[in-house]
Amino acid sequence: MRRYDIIIVGGGISGTMAGIAASRIGAQVLVIESYGFLGGMLTTAGVGPMMTFHAGEKQVIQGITSELINRLVAKGQSIGHIFDTVGYTYSLTPFDIEGMKQELEMMLLESGGQVLYHTMLAKVHREGAKIEKITICNKAGLSDLEAKIYIDATGDADLAVWAGVPYTKGREKDGAAQPMTMKMRMGNVDMAQLKNFIHEHPEEFPLYQGDTSIIEKSPRLSTAGFVKKFQKAKERGEISIPREDVLLFESNTPGEVILNTTRILGCDSTDPWSLSKAEIEGRKQCRELELFLKKYIPGFKNANALYSGPSIGVRGSRQIQGIYTLTAKDILTMQTFDDVIAHSGYPIDIHSPDGGHTDHAKLEWGGMYSIPYRTLITHELDNLIVVGRCISATFEAQAAIRTTPTVGAIGQAGGIAASLAAKKDTRVQQIDTTELQNILLQQKAYLEI
Ligand SMILES: Cc1cc2nc3c(=O)[nH]c(=O)nc-3n(C[C@H](O)[C@H](O)[C@H](O)COP(=O)(O)OP(=O)(O)OC[C@H]3O[C@@H](n4cnc5c(N)ncnc54)[C@H](O)[C@@H]3O)c2cc1C
Repeated sequence: MRRYDIIIVGGGISGTMAGIAASRIGAQVLVIESYGFLGGMLTTAGVGPMMTFHAGEKQVIQGITSELINRLVAKGQSIGHIFDTVGYTYSLTPFDIEGMKQELEMMLLESGGQVLYHTMLAKVHREGAKIEKITICNKAGLSDLEAKIYIDATGDADLAVWAGVPYTKGREKDGAAQPMTMKMRMGNVDMAQLKNFIHEHPEEFPLYQGDTSIIEKSPRLSTAGFVKKFQKAKERGEISIPREDVLLFESNTPGEVILNTTRILGCDSTDPWSLSKAEIEGRKQCRELELFLKKYIPGFKNANALYSGPSIGVRGSRQIQGIYTLTAKDILTMQTFDDVIAHSGYPIDIHSPDGGHTDHAKLEWGGMYSIPYRTLITHELDNLIVVGRCISATFEAQAAIRTTPTVGAIGQAGGIAASLAAKKDTRVQQIDTTELQNILLQQKAYLEI
């Protein structure tokens, strides 16, 4: 049986950042990933742009996630941080998907980490308060792997939950999750025509309250609107998407847009039957959206659908019950914690599980909240750390911490913590959080302590 200091299940942005951070301080790391590349939602579901690295104008996500962007910028695979013209945040960060796949892999391998692709977690073997080993499934059948410390970066908390960690799912009152979205990329969009339409029809874009000049402030368009045309298409029965408007972001490639508009309600990403249903419904909604845009929106007449990715996008499913559970109040009052491991300025952003609307709760301009280490660990298991969108948070708080720069920063911290626990042969609950913070600072993370 192969043995490692740390096994990370899930090679999304949080798992990859964890792997790089841990390997850079000497841990022997294996990342297990069910697809044949890294990046999770960023590369499998076509999520983009990354948002946000900033709180107001200050960059509060730094460290390895920021280094990733610097490397992509140097290679022309990201335009870097640009002004957000939808108004969620201060900045958005577009990137090329192929560049993202390559760079994440290179950074992990350069740091000394290993990756095993096309492999899924099949079983967790627990003895008392420890995970003893895991069984994986791939083209070679079933086999076992062992590590001192395990990191769950699956997004759905598969490893933690299968090991017996208590969890919550969706909204507290009824368990309903944020809708899934099948993102669709369209190329060959005439951006000049599209921008003209926005300027000539401000009534279609209530967001701008009559002044559409903001869209000229950024080298890539991001917008939400087309509300009247969308409503009419719904009334004609051409659109069945339970959403009020069309949300789009021009990608790193001028003239290519990412549509974040489909909405699949009532499905569960941890139930493969339900997930399959969501993929089918997502594709149907993408077809409707493509026809709507080509027929009614100037600039899309000659555009073509390019890509919807190998997986539908999942915003949230299970949250582990950790030693501390982050709440909306912690976020909105900018609660500070002694064991802080990351900050973020991304607001609470809930795509309604009931459809039809999107709820936001923003911090004051420039405000940032803190994420404590205790949201990554449990009372249940001494050798498990959880990173990414499934850490211990309420439904509303998860809707803030889930975006990619933030979960990248969380991943980096989780990787360092795992490495400390492995090196010192100690329980993850007992690592010295001051030492963790110092190593984070050495790895150029941003921390206010
Ligand atoms: C529709 C949509 C739009 C979004 N828009 C934005 C946006 O504009 N900007 C932004 O920054 N964020 C956005 N987000 C949020 C963001 O994409 C995710 O929250 C983030 O990518 C989560 O990262 P993660 O590493 O926690 O998990 P994931 O990205 O989900 O990665 C988990 C990884 O684990 C692997 N895995 C899972 N289970 C197993 C298993 N059992 N065995 C082996 N491997 C496994 C998966 O294949 C995957 O690679 C959006 C999300 C969605 C769904």
